[in-house]
Amino acid sequence: MNTCCTSPIETIAADKHKVNDECCLVAEKTEAPVTAKCPVSGTLSRKVQRRTVEHLIKSERRDVIENVQYYYCAEPTCEVVYFSGENVPYFTKNNVSVKVFAKEPGDDVNACYCFDWTRKRIQEELVNTGKSTASLQIAREIKAGTCACDVKNPKGECCLGDVNSAVKEIISKKSQ
Ligand SMILES: [Zn+2]
Repeated sequence: MNTCCTSPIETIAADKHKVNDECCLVAEKTEAPVTAKCPVSGTLSRKVQRRTVEHLIKSERRDVIENVQYYYCAEPTCEVVYFSGENVPYFTKNNVSVKVFAKEPGDDVNACYCFDWTRKRIQEELVNTGKSTASLQIAREIKAGTCACDVKNPKGECCLGDVNSAVKEIISKKSQ
């Protein structure tokens, strides 16, 4: 069994804990193809677990969720968040109850949805202390089993790749 979230804290913090690019919280097995193309942007997209879609679609749209495999479109410029290869309606940013990190550039947008690390909070720590402890703090929580990225993060998996890229982006902007 893949238990990537029990890896050493430093390994998790570096986002090197996943096995075959999969997090152990993503354990849903379906027959549907592993990837599908977004109907709007054509972006090759990965499967997302049903529980993620059910948790994050706004309540007024929840009864539109069909009994199909959904995929998550990560294309920054595309409005679509969840779609299916079947002929059913897709869900856009407006249908999702949180701002999607990959698609929203604002400072108030979360990179980590479980422990509330927004771009702004990451930036403030960097400005105030000169370093970022976000990924280590998150890794500690993951190891303690308190992370719920499978339902809180719109991509339905670990945030650490996004957190680390947000840190890098802020550092490179500061040094310009
Ligand atoms: Zn798309």
